[in-house]
Amino acid sequence: MRSRFSAFALDRRDYLLASWHPDTRPASIEPHDTTKWVRLEILGHETQGDSDRVHFRATFRDARRWQVLEENSRFVREDGRWYYLDGTPSVTRLKPGRNDPCPCGSQRKFKSCCGR
Ligand SMILES: [Zn+2]
Repeated sequence: MRSRFSAFALDRRDYLLASWHPDTRPASIEPHDTTKWVRLEILGHETQGDSDRVHFRATFRDARRWQVLEENSRFVREDGRWYYLDGTPSVTRLKPGRNDPCPCGSQRKFKSCCGR
């Protein structure tokens, strides 16, 4: 999961496709030049044999808009390798106020962090 997040953050599309299960893998992934992933929170994690469920929340910034992607992802292990199978993503727009905690997780106020 973390390695996939890093791949998103670094726009490593080749890695994302390679770790995606062949049954559900898209033919290609569009580049997200303006998307900046800033924070990953693992909210739950459960492994049963060769299947894995991860509930996570990822905060990103697209130009000046802040959004949160929350997803329950399923992973399967085949021949010792984990693959992303599918997920139920939902995206929520954030509207941080100037005095709110910064969505990047810095513990600082938005106005004195990314909101400057
Ligand atoms: Zn910040």
